[in-house]
Amino acid sequence: MYKLIQPKFDLNINGMKFLGRGPKASGRGMGWSRNEDIIYKCVNCGSEMLASHNDYWNCECGAIHLDFDAGRFGSKYGDENILVYKKNVQTENNLNLGNKRKSFLNKKNEKIFKTKN
Ligand SMILES: [Zn+2]
Repeated sequence: MYKLIQPKFDLNINGMKFLGRGPKASGRGMGWSRNEDIIYKCVNCGSEMLASHNDYWNCECGAIHLDFDAGRFGSKYGDENILVYKKNVQTENNLNLGNKRKSFLNKKNEKIFKTKN
């Protein structure tokens, strides 16, 4: 058995619901869910990966590795040291905020004619 590592960060993250540790918490029995609403987080370094990630991936401390071609995902500290989160509606709203910002470039070009030469 692997030892459970206690995170140095707050387990509660804005806009996400903490589901638990390991693949069972992701809701797909013995495997890791690849649902786009699910996020995996390294308990050691706090790196986050979307469950729907489509490539090789390593967390910052190197514990978690996704071998995409082999379809294998896990942490060298054991599956229970991967935290499972689910995005909620609030997260989506926050992501859309950036689109509402107006570009300042439009203002800059107001009332200016280009020179002929
Ligand atoms: Zn890590």
